[in-house]
Amino acid sequence: MSASVQGQSLDRLMGMLNGHRIAQALSVATRLDIADHLAERPMTANELADLTSAKPAPLYQVLRAVASRGVFAEDDVGRFRNTPMSEYLRRDAPGPARLFGVLNGEMFYASLGELMHTVRTGDPGFDQAFGHSFFHHLSAEAGLGSLFDSLMTALYGREVDAALETFDFSDVGQLLDVGGGRGTVARALLAKFPDLSCGLFDLPDVAARAEQTFAMEGLLDRCKITSGSFFDAIPSGYDTYLLKHVLHDWNDERCSVILLNCRRAIRDGGRLLILEYIVPSGNEPSLIKELDLAMLSFFGGKERTEAEFRELLERAGFRLERVVDSGTPLCILEASPG
Ligand code: SAH
Repeated sequence: MSASVQGQSLDRLMGMLNGHRIAQALSVATRLDIADHLAERPMTANELADLTSAKPAPLYQVLRAVASRGVFAEDDVGRFRNTPMSEYLRRDAPGPARLFGVLNGEMFYASLGELMHTVRTGDPGFDQAFGHSFFHHLSAEAGLGSLFDSLMTALYGREVDAALETFDFSDVGQLLDVGGGRGTVARALLAKFPDLSCGLFDLPDVAARAEQTFAMEGLLDRCKITSGSFFDAIPSGYDTYLLKHVLHDWNDERCSVILLNCRRAIRDGGRLLILEYIVPSGNEPSLIKELDLAMLSFFGGKERTEAEFRELLERAGFRLERVVDSGTPLCILEASPG
């Protein structure tokens, strides 16, 4: 290996080892709404500290560090202004960056901090860090549940649109979105197919928030919202059951319970659609393999290969009929009661 390749390898490794510093600094800047304050006018760390109840000196160090990566820019009299990257941290910006900035600091970082515990025990680092489960935390902490629902929509909205373009949803009949969250899928389906009506099922507080959203958008008469736990029972009477980004939250044993409850609920001739990422083979850089670490530490869950989905489905009495590539990382796995 040449000296320069060796040097590059070390630089890349060091970048990965130290990624937490900038991630945390960005989270602090996001949670203090710095980008929104700077939208008014350029400001010094002193002025920003006044507005955000922070100490000027450490806030300056945080902003100077992230500005060295192009998030905010400092001028020669110490005033910071927004940059194209920091604009994404504003409250009304499109995309998931602000939500990640907030949730990284509130929940995700502490959970990943317990990764060694997870690797030694298989148990979620989240529960170790917070003393209760991820979804319990979302319902117990005011505001966090709604931020998480928004993150799901911001992260996956574009992929859902692509899935709706690629897969023919026109003949799905009555569809139940199981663990539907705020209704990213249900709302996209209702918008695309004016004659469709569907259902959404989730935990009680999530369902209550979804109901508010659907009511505000005048969609409640076309979507029946019910609540409960998919580990207990899933409402029957639908033609198609859909699980998007639900199975990756759980280990195989818990997934089997969810799928068996779907199997019980589904009628002959019904369909199960799973919308998930599929882990690629090979060693190329893969965001799916990195998201997998989040699922592992938050829930003890995992992203799966196609073979792993097939096996899970077969164990619960389903047959994997086909896998449809949406042109985004999100795949549609179609299964039937087998
Ligand atoms: N399908 C949605 C949300 C995915 S996040 C989307 O893709 O946007 C996982 C969802 O599972 C959350 O909405 C969460 O509230 C729900 N969930 C977690 N545990 C559940 C349970 N025991 N019963 C029903 N839903 C549950």
